[in-house]
Amino acid sequence: MQFIDLHRQFDRIEDGVREGFDAVLKHKGFIGGPEIKELQKQLAEYTDVKHVIACASGTDALTVPLKAWQLKETDAVFVPSFTFFASAESITLAGGTPVFVDVDYDTFNMDPADLEAKVKETLEEGKLTPKGIVAVDLFGLPADFPAIREVAEKYGLFVLEDAAQGFGGTIGDKRAGSFGDVGSTSFFPAKPLGCYGDGGAIFTSDDDMAFLIDSIHVHGKGTDKYDNVRIGYNSRLDTFQAVVLLNKMTLFDDELDKRNFVAAEYTKRLKDTFETPVVPERFGSSWAQYTLKAKDKEERETIVAKMKEQGIPVMVYYPIPIHRSGAYKHLGAKNLPVTDELSDRVFSIPMHPYLEVEEIEMICNALKDIVNR
Ligand SMILES: *Cc1c(COP(=O)(O)O)cnc(C)c1O
Repeated sequence: MQFIDLHRQFDRIEDGVREGFDAVLKHKGFIGGPEIKELQKQLAEYTDVKHVIACASGTDALTVPLKAWQLKETDAVFVPSFTFFASAESITLAGGTPVFVDVDYDTFNMDPADLEAKVKETLEEGKLTPKGIVAVDLFGLPADFPAIREVAEKYGLFVLEDAAQGFGGTIGDKRAGSFGDVGSTSFFPAKPLGCYGDGGAIFTSDDDMAFLIDSIHVHGKGTDKYDNVRIGYNSRLDTFQAVVLLNKMTLFDDELDKRNFVAAEYTKRLKDTFETPVVPERFGSSWAQYTLKAKDKEERETIVAKMKEQGIPVMVYYPIPIHRSGAYKHLGAKNLPVTDELSDRVFSIPMHPYLEVEEIEMICNALKDIVNR
């Protein structure tokens, strides 16, 4: 059994992908081919955001807009510690300093109350100037943007939505990518919308930010391509990846329905044994992961080992919170009790649109047998 099965999906799009690749091989616009423009247009329509700029990875999709905000080392950007490393790494790459915020026990997402507490602490300490927030749509569920934006407005902070896992998620009738001043996503193959290599995209309805981001992602280009007016990156999506993504977009809504079906089937079978994932009223998840909590670290180790014996892959996202990682422990961040607890207890079970009910049944029965409660 695969943790994320890309074979079954490929069967559905194989002809389109091969035809699209052939077209690129003929027109040879390997960088900046017409498929890139078409993809950006479709993504903008899908998320109802004015500008979409495709780039080379989800990490770049965070770093490029952060660079546009011209961070200094004394600028604080608030970010959860319970997330993939790149959410914080991008802040450092862009020149700022991450300040870690705790997450909510039920949703795994940034806790808006702790966000405000950490902003106040930072102001009182007086060493760093609060500048912005990177809020993550972890495991596919949008962060609590209505509450996060309130804090942002109160303290004059920018909001960057890390929707690397969240593309397809919703709050009311709005889609992930559109919740911050800028949004970013990743097309890493295992993400809800993945390509066949590395890729990412940046979303914004702010014309000035879009202009800066467009410049920074290609060597700080000016109006003339060879007049470089600022320092930037070489961060472009290649045309082959756009072909893959255009084909996957034709399936995306159907896959989203299928993911929701799989999640509901899991929850139905597991809710009496585990604390199953919580999706708040008006929120919709893209189910990048289906994540459960073991009783403690020891039980989690047993679950991971025994499931593996039965050929069922179980992953731990994330065993080391970023504030305890080798790269960031020197910051001495503390008071992140929920993050610390979740890092010891969480585990994720196979999740992709093509899981069959029999497989779901098998996975759930195996899990229930192991914990025996
Ligand atoms: C995957 C991921 C990224 C980075 O994306 P890449 O395309 O791998 O660079 C950033 N943030 C989160 C939350 C992610 O899951």
